[in-house]
Amino acid sequence: VQNRFWFGLALAIAILIGLAHPGFSQNLALPPLKTYPLPPLLAQWPGDRQAGDYFDRIQPTAVGYLLWSQFPIQVYIEPPPDECQHRFSGWLNAILAAVDEWNEYLPLAVTQRPENANIIWQCQRPPLRATLNRDRQQFEFPVARNAEARYHLYRLSGDPERLAHRFTIQLSPHQSDADTLATARHELGHALGIWGHSPTETDALYAEQTRLLAPISARDVNTLKRVYQQPTRLSPPRPSP
Ligand SMILES: [Zn+2]
Repeated sequence: VQNRFWFGLALAIAILIGLAHPGFSQNLALPPLKTYPLPPLLAQWPGDRQAGDYFDRIQPTAVGYLLWSQFPIQVYIEPPPDECQHRFSGWLNAILAAVDEWNEYLPLAVTQRPENANIIWQCQRPPLRATLNRDRQQFEFPVARNAEARYHLYRLSGDPERLAHRFTIQLSPHQSDADTLATARHELGHALGIWGHSPTETDALYAEQTRLLAPISARDVNTLKRVYQQPTRLSPPRPSP
């Protein structure tokens, strides 16, 4: 009990030092919410009202909706690691095909310069993340996944404070060409702003991988269009030309 007391006291002091120390972290006020004009391709898209959408499944984040406001969106494909060498051309073609498909709705460009990248593709299987089950006192591993899209935020230099985001997509090389394309299409949909899943099997952003390998549906595009009408705290990532 005494040990626990001293440990608790030490922890409390450590937390206090952490909070009081000026260099420990810097709190920034979140930039204000802003709504951008709808990108022309989405604005012109005739749409299919009857198809509906699944916008209610899309989660805004602390910085609002994860949308891009500068085009074309720059896509960078990392050189293949050893794990991927044997399958790289098939993997690469699937990504380029997925980029072409979404390019009908939002302008995308493949860049050779990683420093310009808004979306980065990595040819690898996402790592398994263990979670601790407290009731059973054991670690649990989820089933292996074929892909994962993650975003992170970074500060842009200048005043006032501005934030931008960047997506990294890890995509396994160990799938068939058709499955790789379906997965690339799905993950790219997340990176373009559909930060959620459709409950309908015939949409590219359906949660589970199915045998249907759904193409981009009218519902996917209707949802994307609604996302781009929402406010965000994210700024255009590059200085305007
Ligand atoms: Zn998903």
